[in-house]
Amino acid sequence: MPLNSQICPNDNPLLTEERTKATFDTNQMAAVIYEGHKFAERRREITRKIAEIPDLHDTVDPAFMSREEKIENSARKSYHLTKHLDKIADKANPAEMAHVTNEVIGCEGNPLALHASMFMPSLIALASDEQKSKWLTRAINREIIGTYAQTEMGHGTNLRKLETTATFDKSAQEFVLHSPTTTSLKWWPGNLGKSTCYAIVAATLFIDGKNYGPHNFMVQLRDEKTYVPLKGITVGDIGPKMAYNATDNGFLGFDHHRILRENMLSKHSQVLADGTYVKPKHAKVGYATMVHVRAHMVTHQGQFIAYATTIAIRYSVVRKQGEIQEGKGEVKILDYQTQQHRLFPMLARSFAFIFTGVETRKLYYRVLQELDKGKVSNLADLHAVTSGLKSVVTYQAGQAIEQARMSCGGHGYSKASNIPEIYGVAIGGATYEGENMVMLLQCARYLMKAAHEARNGQPLSPLVQYLTRKYERVSRIGTSTNQDYSAHLSAFEHISRKQIFKAADRLEKLVKDGNSRQEAWNKNGVELNRAARLHTRYFIALCFYEAVAQIADSACRVVLQDLLHLHLDYELLDMAGYLLQDDYLSSHQIDWLKDDMYRLLAKIRPNAVSLVDSFEFSDRELRSVLGRRDGHVYENLYKWAKASELNRDDPKKSLYDANSSTYQWTCSANDCFCVNGTQNGTKPCLEEDAPWKDGCYDWNNVLDDPQKYPNKWANNWMTVDLCKLHFENNRIYTYFTVSEKTCYLSNTSYLDKKENEDWDWDCQVTCPGDNNQRCGKKNSRAFVYKYDSGNPDYMCICHPMYTGDDCESLKTNPCLDDPPICQNNGTCSYDWVTYKHTCKCDSDYKGENCEYPKQCMKTTCKNGGTCVEKDDGSFDCECLNYYHGDYGEEISRCEYDKPCGDHGTCSDGPYSGIDPEFNWSADSI
Ligand SMILES: Cc1cc2nc3c(=O)[nH]c(=O)nc-3n(C[C@H](O)[C@H](O)[C@H](O)COP(=O)(O)OP(=O)(O)OC[C@H]3O[C@@H](n4cnc5c(N)ncnc54)[C@H](O)[C@@H]3O)c2cc1C
Repeated sequence: MPLNSQICPNDNPLLTEERTKATFDTNQMAAVIYEGHKFAERRREITRKIAEIPDLHDTVDPAFMSREEKIENSARKSYHLTKHLDKIADKANPAEMAHVTNEVIGCEGNPLALHASMFMPSLIALASDEQKSKWLTRAINREIIGTYAQTEMGHGTNLRKLETTATFDKSAQEFVLHSPTTTSLKWWPGNLGKSTCYAIVAATLFIDGKNYGPHNFMVQLRDEKTYVPLKGITVGDIGPKMAYNATDNGFLGFDHHRILRENMLSKHSQVLADGTYVKPKHAKVGYATMVHVRAHMVTHQGQFIAYATTIAIRYSVVRKQGEIQEGKGEVKILDYQTQQHRLFPMLARSFAFIFTGVETRKLYYRVLQELDKGKVSNLADLHAVTSGLKSVVTYQAGQAIEQARMSCGGHGYSKASNIPEIYGVAIGGATYEGENMVMLLQCARYLMKAAHEARNGQPLSPLVQYLTRKYERVSRIGTSTNQDYSAHLSAFEHISRKQIFKAADRLEKLVKDGNSRQEAWNKNGVELNRAARLHTRYFIALCFYEAVAQIADSACRVVLQDLLHLHLDYELLDMAGYLLQDDYLSSHQIDWLKDDMYRLLAKIRPNAVSLVDSFEFSDRELRSVLGRRDGHVYENLYKWAKASELNRDDPKKSLYDANSSTYQWTCSANDCFCVNGTQNGTKPCLEEDAPWKDGCYDWNNVLDDPQKYPNKWANNWMTVDLCKLHFENNRIYTYFTVSEKTCYLSNTSYLDKKENEDWDWDCQVTCPGDNNQRCGKKNSRAFVYKYDSGNPDYMCICHPMYTGDDCESLKTNPCLDDPPICQNNGTCSYDWVTYKHTCKCDSDYKGENCEYPKQCMKTTCKNGGTCVEKDDGSFDCECLNYYHGDYGEEISRCEYDKPCGDHGTCSDGPYSGIDPEFNWSADSI
């Protein structure tokens, strides 16, 4: 029984060969990574369930989508996810929800991303119990969707200078929110642009003209049903970014917008009715949301590296290039030591971050519980740890992912690898939730305080107790006393301690030299940040060390000890400059570290694929052709490239136009192009002569080889007209179809489908008669077919998501149109299943889009008739007996007077007015 559970028949044998070498059970390793078998199994279950729900899948690789399509696609999946969520996962379990999001949405973002990661955690951390009962339950049930809006165009880091104001109006018991300048516009909040109707807004609080600094307010931005922005609110999208392009990061401005006093989040600070301000117990207590996200970022960044290294390591055993020994054949690129050196330390880093993430979250929840009981003493520890980690982890994750990308050569640069996307998303983390340099400085502030306390013999937090520990003057690394990793960890401790005191001494010196404290701080910034980095790298090393020591499964522990060891060697070598200072480490010991690292690279090599397999990322989650579980990279890379928009028409007219000086055409027997403005050198090239408006096709070859393909005429671009010509020349067929390049003549029944029959929308199976397994214009968009001989037009049956003559456009949510599609204050709602909107009209309007004023008034229908409004703008009068006419204004004398009795035939004459002249004839009195 192989120890690697990812082995499947028909996989690329190069990958299977690697998997059979595992020295540990990948299921056991997955339990180590996912904190127990229970959650590892839940992940598998969730992955299986998602695989069975087509609504949750991408129909086209988002790499080929425009930004708008990405956002729509993400919204579509989020909508269906909400519908199916109860069947798939426990929505109150953040780990399950994170896995669901990774599988279904991916890392590019979704309309609910900030709702889950910032809005709800902010409510939990900052709202009073009363406020939670008002908003939190609705938020959990997604009745309201929100985001967190802090950053402004002009200020991000320096919160004290936020320009958005919240001024308390005592008489109205309201706050007035206002954006006085362009730079005060909120800028960047995720999902603010289009997706959310609420935001927690950070604004500077003013009471009676006094500035109380930034506070958080719950603000409704849009109507909950129509999503139309409320009065006094301007909101929109900030445009495309380096990554996260499925997210609508937005801007927001207020024009004296009023909210209730109760909308200031008041768990920690309040404004009473009389304008009295109640201070929070601890100045930093309001930053809990930021800390929450930072605590989770460590795990997420570890996972980003895990994605990238999984892709790169799998690909590196499928890819063969060059020989190590001449004549012995090409080798897998993972056999090169340089490739191992690029990838294995990064793989070790992902484990280091994942284990550190677990510890950090434990610390976070412990401090949060203490805060609830009013204990704030450990908040500074948490703030320092998460600030340092956030910076080191995002920076090192960027390095690691970039290494993985480069290790895949040219294919790593292609979006088919998905590494560019992972990189773009991961490095966003260096900026959001506190810019990295600034965060390091915050960590350094804590360390400088600790250094001062250590020197004065004051008690220290466990996190910095090493500052006073007895230390060794010379490292034991590489000596006979170096039995385990204790010499490595001592080295981390040594350089961190040294740098912290060095930065503290330099700071004091700068002050003594006459600089103010602030000036000295700034002039010492780089040294301070170095101290914060070293301290944090030591913290990570310790977390990794302690996690590995606790692993029960011995086979897993042994291989993770190798990774830990590699991590420690690699990190120390990276910091060799510090180690060499004061001869703590000799150059001989540096060489020892290098040799030790090379030994470990070779030792880890056989387990490399099984280690990344243990993350158990599904292909859906990885979204990478290079990192496919089955290792069938090349054929799928080709298939992926063929899906490119640019391959839909050949040649591409816009490029053709750009290359030629005119819009004219020249057609020869086998080709079609425009040279010198003439066709065949004689007739001027006129656009109307172009056989196909997006390009050319080969007239002669179209009718090629009817024996070989009795009912198929293929090879070149096929216009409907041309296909029709074949059809008319081959009258034995009943139908003709144009799909992509190909013309089909047939009598088969599939062409006979009616519009309301079930169509194979996503074309996972071969579309009848279509060799490319593609339907219509874009994969899975439409089935283009031509029906019956009499009708000269083709028609596309569009998937409900698409619209246009050729199903070429993704439908957008019309409720977001500007001007609003529902006119005259109608309320718009959009059905994500049918992709149709409905308007609920104001009482005075009617029509599909509330475009018509209602016609019926009390007096509209005469003589007791009932007026009935019609959707096309008109109305009907339902008349009482004997009455007729558009308004019920006419009476039928034949019916009313019965002049012909019961047996005679009576006919009324032409009517006019309510007192009509009438004729009647009695032909059988
Ligand atoms: C992908 C992404 C998503 C985001 N999502 C949100 C969101 O949902 N909600 C939200 O409110 N915001 C969001 N933001 C904004 C983000 O929080 C800010 O960009 C971030 O806080 C940095 O602020 P800034 O842009 O003003 O940079 P600045 O503060 O202007 O930084 C620019 C440079 O100045 C340096 N600098 C600034 N101050 C100091 C200092 N005191 N000492 C030393 N150096 C300094 C920095 O180190 C940096 O190098 C997002 C940003 C990104 C990129």
